[in-house]
Amino acid sequence: MDTEKITYTCIGSVRGACGVTHRTLDAARRCCARDAGAIHRAYPSTYPTRAYSDREPIASDGSEIDYDENPED
Ligand SMILES: [Zn+2]
Repeated sequence: MDTEKITYTCIGSVRGACGVTHRTLDAARRCCARDAGAIHRAYPSTYPTRAYSDREPIASDGSEIDYDENPED
């Protein structure tokens, strides 16, 4: 039996879910970053202060994600 595949998706309370099943956490992170970049382009006047995506990757099995790079500030 194969190792159970964990997938990731991106969810934010403001931005909603991306609706994409990402096979890797890396892909999910890039998706979230791309969403944040889209906001920056849509609202350039707020960049880089308050504009951001609140989407974050979640694992399909509900496991904790280790944020080794999660700049809050
Ligand atoms: Zn995504």
